[in-house]
Amino acid sequence: MHIRAIARFASIVFCFRRRIYVFCTKSQRATLGSNGYAYTCLRKIFKHTLLSEFLGDTMKIEFHGAGQEVGRSCIEINDEILLDAGIKVGEIVEYPDNIARKRDEYIDYPSRVDLPKIKAVFISHAHLDHSGALPLFDHFGLNCPIFCTEGTKETTYILLRDALKIAGFKERHVAYTAYDIERIEMLMKSISVHGEGTVGRYKYKFFDAGHIPGSSSILLEFDGKKLLYTGDLNTIPTQLMKGTDIMPNVDILICESTYGDREHTPRVETEEAFLDKVQEIVGRGGSVIIAVFAVGRAQEILILLNKRKFNVPIYLDGMAQRVTNVYMEATSTLRDPEALMKAISNARFVGRENRRKITKKQGIFVTTSGMVTGGPIIQYMDILKDDPKTGLVLTGYQAENSHGRQLLDTGRITIKGKTSKVACTVDCFDFSAHAGRKQLVNFIRHIDPNILILNHGNPNAIKSLASEFKDRKVYTPKTGDILQL
Ligand SMILES: [Zn+2]
Ligand SMILES: [Zn+2]
Repeated sequence: MHIRAIARFASIVFCFRRRIYVFCTKSQRATLGSNGYAYTCLRKIFKHTLLSEFLGDTMKIEFHGAGQEVGRSCIEINDEILLDAGIKVGEIVEYPDNIARKRDEYIDYPSRVDLPKIKAVFISHAHLDHSGALPLFDHFGLNCPIFCTEGTKETTYILLRDALKIAGFKERHVAYTAYDIERIEMLMKSISVHGEGTVGRYKYKFFDAGHIPGSSSILLEFDGKKLLYTGDLNTIPTQLMKGTDIMPNVDILICESTYGDREHTPRVETEEAFLDKVQEIVGRGGSVIIAVFAVGRAQEILILLNKRKFNVPIYLDGMAQRVTNVYMEATSTLRDPEALMKAISNARFVGRENRRKITKKQGIFVTTSGMVTGGPIIQYMDILKDDPKTGLVLTGYQAENSHGRQLLDTGRITIKGKTSKVACTVDCFDFSAHAGRKQLVNFIRHIDPNILILNHGNPNAIKSLASEFKDRKVYTPKTGDILQL
């Protein structure tokens, strides 16, 4: 069965003294390298021993996630290095290595990643689609340094603790414990925003990716080749971030493609429209509930609000407070730390105990979660949703099945199991932290890689972006695929 699978990709397959030899053309070899199933068959037969003989001195890049999808970013290089270790959060939690976790389902060892053999993990940034599987990997034997910036380290820790808390709250079993998170913190080695160093035969260097504070693109140099992994990328400056660093030319570029088929409205227009909307709601005597992501968006919105006078107090509630405190310590990727400091001093940090009282008067409530899926915003909505003067303002992408999406599509929200129509207004503004199509194209042209690998995007976004680069070799792997380059 396995031999037949290989034979589809090779001219001659034969067995001699308990060794299997495969002869194939260069293009057959490339096809085989990118076919996850056949490659797995080969692995089973050779048990690793003949693999390098057969494939020669090539680079192996395995996509455990984020292949033609957004979520569970995790790329393995030569069975030794992991770039990111994320999860995909939806109806169920999906982990790298095609492990899906349903409610109460036992979780398997991520068998395609030989975790104890991994020599280093590089985390591009704190978002859980890039870091959420770290405790699971620790649980199953990861024992190597995890390199990331200080901002990423501290924020990842906050997000992982929060994810565990939410899972407990929703009575979902998670695949790891608080102890695994503590261990992860011990393995994490924070390095400076432009830090560099060596692990075994790999030289690494970090660049500012401009996505959220502490976010990095990672350059690896080994075997005379340069590989750049963008992580998530925003090339333009925002109120909070400076935009990406200028990065060097490389042989291989693994580039995110989230907005590969779409452009953003120019940032300044979005900012003005957002501030006008807040002004309009305050002007009609209403309160404003602003839904933000704790990491990056909350801080950007505070800076922006500070650009106008609203004559009502601005409050910050939820996990965004802790993240904001981290950013005040790790300021090196911020565009203007002073502006954030001023914005924070004009906002009041509040919690559960104040919500009833402060919502009795007009105010601007900046709070999590960004898609209205949980967190303090639920209580703010519960109190204020029936007031037609109140306005809910969403500040980013709203996933299918999120309350934010439901509110935009139907004007309804489900709180404590009861679905009802809201009287408050609902508006959404596109404050994306990802480069738009044109910016991605310019970024890639500037890096000018011989080989371009597109990941972290839905199939349409990836297809559209790939169509811009007919002048070079472009790979668009699916999750589970392996490239031999
Ligand atoms: Zn991200
Ligand atoms: Zn991402």
